[in-house]
Amino acid sequence: MLTTLLRSYLTRSLQPFRFQNTYSNQLQFQHLDQLGLYVHVPFCRSHCSFCPYCKVKYDKELAQAYLQALLQEIEFVGNSQASKKSITTLYFGGGTPALLIDDLKAIIDTINRYFEITEGIGIELHPTDVTVSNLEKLKTAGITMVSLGVQSFEQRCLTKLGRIGDTAQAQLELLAKAGFTVMDVDLIFAIPGQTIDSLLKDVDTAFALGATQVSTYPFIDFTFANNQHKPLSKPEKKQMLQALVEHCRQSGIERTSVWTFAKPGTQKYSSITRDHFLGFGVSAASLLQDQFKINTFSITAYIERINSGQLPTALTLKFTQRQRAVYYLFWSAYTMNISPERFKAVVGESLSKMYGFELWLLEKLGLIYQADGIYYLSDRAAYYYHNLEQRYTTAYIDKMWHIARKEAFPEGIIL
Ligand code: SF4
Repeated sequence: MLTTLLRSYLTRSLQPFRFQNTYSNQLQFQHLDQLGLYVHVPFCRSHCSFCPYCKVKYDKELAQAYLQALLQEIEFVGNSQASKKSITTLYFGGGTPALLIDDLKAIIDTINRYFEITEGIGIELHPTDVTVSNLEKLKTAGITMVSLGVQSFEQRCLTKLGRIGDTAQAQLELLAKAGFTVMDVDLIFAIPGQTIDSLLKDVDTAFALGATQVSTYPFIDFTFANNQHKPLSKPEKKQMLQALVEHCRQSGIERTSVWTFAKPGTQKYSSITRDHFLGFGVSAASLLQDQFKINTFSITAYIERINSGQLPTALTLKFTQRQRAVYYLFWSAYTMNISPERFKAVVGESLSKMYGFELWLLEKLGLIYQADGIYYLSDRAAYYYHNLEQRYTTAYIDKMWHIARKEAFPEGIIL
C-alpha cells in the first residue's frame, strides 16, 4: 500500500509499472554513459534455504550448453554496435559463478571484443570456491574485485539460514593474500538467535581479515524461499542497523550506502547501483534510458530462445519519464546521495523542476542536506529507506520473481 501510494504520488499517475512480454532484439545502449555489464551464472552445488536468486543444482552438461548460449547472447548484443563501447564494470553473479571458473576467461574475452572495461571486473564467490588454484585462475582471467558470500561467521547463524558448510575465516584470509583491488564480504543481519554483539563482531572480523567493504543485508523471508527460521522483528532490525552504523562510524569506516560500509578511499563493489546496465544470462535485467527488461528465468527456454536467434527477454517495462525518474531516485537514494547532474543526464529533465517541492520539504524535515551541489540522506532518512527497500522487495521483487520462476515467458506483470 505504502509503495503504491508513494509511486502514484512521485509519478503523478495511477499508472502501475506494466511489464509486457513484448521485446525488441535491438537494444538502444550505444549512446549511454555510465553503462555497466552483469553476467548471471545460475548454478549452485546445493541450495541455501534463504536464497531467492535464480539458480539450479550444477549439472556439467547443462552448464556447458548454458555457456554456449551465454556467449551467443553477448555476441548478439555486442554485434549490434558499430564500434567498441566503453563500459564501467563487469560483474559476475549467481548462483555460483566460480562453477564456470575454467570458462570465465572465454566469457571475458568475448566481452572484451565488444566492450572496453574501464573500472574492473567483479565476481561473487562462495567460500567453497576459495582455493589457491581458483584464485590464480580468477587473476589470470582479469578479475579485480571479489565478493565473498560469508553471511555470518557464526555456525549457528549459518544453520538458521540453511547454509551448508563451515564459517569462512580461513577462506577470507586466503582471499586477502591474493591481493584483489576490492574485497567485499556479504553479511546478513536479523538472523534468529543473532545478537547485536555477534553482528558487530562479524563486521570487525571481516575488516580485520582484509575486507575493503562489508555489505550487510537484512534477512528477508521471500515467499518462495524455504526458510525454516524467520527473520527477527522490525524493531530488532532497526536496532541492529543503528548499532552497525554507529559502530562503523566509531571505527573510521564509511557508510557507502544504506546497507554497505567500506574502508575510506577504496573502490565500491556494487552491481546494482548503476545508471544503466546490460545483463546477460537467465534472470539478468537490463536498465536502459527508457526501458527495463528481464531475461527468462528458465535455463532451457533461455537456450532455446538464443538458438532461435532471438534475445531471451521475458518481460519489458517501457518507462514514462516520471517512472524513470522514480527508478533513478530510488537507487540513488540507496547510495545515500543524489546528483542533480546525473539525474538530468539520465532522466532528461532537471531534478528541481520535477521534484523541487519535495526536495525543499525533505530538507526542512532534516531528511536530506546539500553539499557541493549533491543531496545527501541523513541517518534518519536512511532508516526510512531501509524500511522502504524491504517493502519494495516484498511488493515488487518477490512478486515478479515468484511469477518468473514459474513461467518462462509470463503474459505480463503489473506492479
Ligand atoms: S546463497 Fe549463493 S550458494 Fe546459496 S543458493 Fe544462493 S546463490 Fe547458491
